[in-house]
Amino acid sequence: MSFRRVAIIGLGLLGGSIGLAVREHLPDVTTTGYDADPATRARAAERGLVGQVCESAADAVQNADLVILCVPVGAMGAAAAEFAHALPRAALVSDVGSSKQFVAKVLAEALPGHAVIPAHPVAGTERSGPDAGFASLFRQRWCIITPPADADPALLAGLSAFWEALGAKVEVMDAAHHDMVLAVTSHLPHLIAYTIVGTADDLEGVTQSEVIKYSAGGFRDFTRIAASDPTMWRDVFLSNKDAVLDMLQRFTEDLTALQRAIRVGDGQQLFDHFTRTRAIRRSIIEQGQDDDRPDFGRSDHGK
Ligand code: NAP
Repeated sequence: MSFRRVAIIGLGLLGGSIGLAVREHLPDVTTTGYDADPATRARAAERGLVGQVCESAADAVQNADLVILCVPVGAMGAAAAEFAHALPRAALVSDVGSSKQFVAKVLAEALPGHAVIPAHPVAGTERSGPDAGFASLFRQRWCIITPPADADPALLAGLSAFWEALGAKVEVMDAAHHDMVLAVTSHLPHLIAYTIVGTADDLEGVTQSEVIKYSAGGFRDFTRIAASDPTMWRDVFLSNKDAVLDMLQRFTEDLTALQRAIRVGDGQQLFDHFTRTRAIRRSIIEQGQDDDRPDFGRSDHGK
């Protein structure tokens, strides 16, 4: 692994997890970190999320050979501009943002002449902030790297090795393709969860206590996703607008087809559809991307 001094900008769930994972898996690598929020910096220092918490982004990056931006997508450009003057010539800048074409554009604008290779570890939880991070977040999860066409192969190899050292599996992909795939696997499911939880909350004739009491019927699993960080998800939808709207259009058409099947009583169509989707769940488990225990492995079945 070619990097020796890693700077992490943004010390929440992703930044904190990277810092802890580096400490566990790459003990010879030193880490510095910065977060815009003084309370987060203080907590990051207490938890030892990075070796040294700095008082400015410039201080954090000044000796780094790898800088990883772990701030909300909408803050990437401003965060990069803040340290641009202090960034060593040879340093590679990467990020963990959930949409990639937008991030590639704003980082190229903020850091002209510097090497930038965006990345997205497809790993997370609904929690955020400096207490949310943990070292095993990336284990057995995919990290998608979206290098620009002129990326230096040695830097790309170094970044891949870095993520593999933290336990991730690496895939290299075109940024536009990443944005389309993630729109359907991540962004649309979050939008649906945010919608359905809001719909239940707005219902007249069903009390909020009934919604909570009977949530194990399916609703509960949507609420976990709908508890995700509002800033992060606002930025994801605004920055991956075209792909999300495209997927939403297709989803709406498919929903209308199922709506029609219910209205006309076409049980065969419903059964065939549900059989197909059940097979997807089986594949996800077989490939180690989720827990195969019933109820998503909730550990406290009555315990
Ligand atoms: P988070 O826990 O909220 O951490 C982000 C941190 O960045 C916050 O402490 C925030 O401070 C700080 N920040 C904001 N603007 C900054 C700036 N200009 N300079 C320095 N620090 C700044 O969020 P997260 O879940 O780690 O998400 C970070 C990134 O990871 C996002 O781009 C997201 O798309 C991506 N991602 C998230 C997940 C997930 O499941 N959460 C998964 C994969 C990728 P304030 O709170 O004061 O704003």
